[in-house]
Order: sequence, then structure tokens, then C-alpha cells
Amino acid sequence: MAAYAAYVFDLDGTLYRGSEPIPHAVSAVERVIGEGAKVVYLTNNSTQTRGSFVAKLGKMGFPVTEEMVWNSSLGAALYCAAQGYKTAHVLGEAGLKQTLSEYGISETTGTPDVVIVGLNRSLTYQDIAEASDWVRAGVPFVATNRDATFPLEGGRFIPGAGSVVAAVETAGGVTPFTVGKPNPYLLELILETNRLDASEVLVIGDRMDTDIEAGRRAGCSTLLVLTGVESFAPDGQTSAPDLRHLA
Ligand SMILES: [Mg+2]
Repeated sequence: MAAYAAYVFDLDGTLYRGSEPIPHAVSAVERVIGEGAKVVYLTNNSTQTRGSFVAKLGKMGFPVTEEMVWNSSLGAALYCAAQGYKTAHVLGEAGLKQTLSEYGISETTGTPDVVIVGLNRSLTYQDIAEASDWVRAGVPFVATNRDATFPLEGGRFIPGAGSVVAAVETAGGVTPFTVGKPNPYLLELILETNRLDASEVLVIGDRMDTDIEAGRRAGCSTLLVLTGVESFAPDGQTSAPDLRHLA
């Protein structure tokens, strides 16, 4: 028997770096599944679809199905569908736009029901101007996540969704509803969908301010791994150098 009924793993810096799995990550996931636990993958990354994460994780050897993968573009689509939004002004990449359209939310050039902002690596000044105009005019504003940076292979960083969101927030004068971690919104949806109580779930991640904070806010146990962003754990935080001894 695994120690928890379910394990919610962050991806970047927790299970892989770039296209390389982190040592002991695949065997840890296989072990807890073998012991009867449920595994969920939860990432703030909004640039890809569920299907592309399934392909990436599968290629590295992680056991994975679509239902196991939750990201902030899926979260944005579920949130907007729940709010009844049908049309959107989207500042984001193909993965976000495709996910929204799968949930019946289409892009419009007219007045949208919602402005949705995620990471966009071909952003222009005009894009910021258009999105902030709608936000300033009172259209609801949703951000996929607010990660300041996005990690690449070799320890490099590029500006993350949070940098794009901050530009629209500053120009539009409105703070968005943020779907991704540290907001517990996605974790709460995962608990509800899988009929889990927060007390039987371990949230594992490499960032205190997103992964661990979201886990705490949702009432779950948390484990910080030192294979990504953080190099030490603050007092009182359960941590491990890697996933070798995950139970
Ligand atoms: Mg991470």
C-alpha cells in the first residue's frame, strides 16, 4: 500500500528537465501506481494540449493517459466553460487555443466574453494593447498562470506567462483570475473529479511559491523536491533531494 491514495506531480523540474527524465522519477511513479495509488500530472504550462503531454511523458517512460494530465490551458477552458463564456480574446499559443476550442470557446475579433492570457513567445506590442483595451473596458480577465519565467534545458530561463500577464494587467489596470498554481483551483478540480479527500493526497513539486503553496491552500500534504528551482527547503517544509525514496 502506498502512503497516500493519490500523488500529484509537477512536471518541469520535478519529473523532467527539458526532454530528459530526472533520475528516479519514472521508477517512483511506477512504484506508487504498483502500490495501488492514483497518479496525476499537474503543470502550469499552458502552451501544450493534454495530448502533447501524454506523448512527451510516454516517450520518457512515464505511465500516462489523458485523464492523468492537467495543465493550465485545460483549467482555463474548464473555468471559462463553467462561467458560460463562449467567445474569447486569446493571447496565447496553439495549445491553449486548441484546448479552448475543444471546450466550445471560440476566438472572436468582436467584443469577447473573456480575455485569456497565457505564455506567447511571439508577443507584439499590439497584442498587449488589444488585450488591455478589452480588460480596461470591463471584459473578464483570466490568466493561465503567473510563473515569471519558463525553464529550458541547460539551466536557461525565458520570460514566462506571468511576464505577459503583468504587461496586460499593468496596461489594463485589472488583476486577472489566475487558473494555475499557487491558486488551488486545479487541485480542487482534481480532488473533485477523482473523488479524493485532500488529506489522502500528496502534492510534489520543485517550487515553494507555486506547487507547494497550491498544495497547502488545497489542504493536501506537500513534498518539495530539490531537483528543479529550489536548492534547499525552508524550515517546516518536508523535502527530498529527489524521488528515490518516495513512499
Ligand atoms: Mg516545476
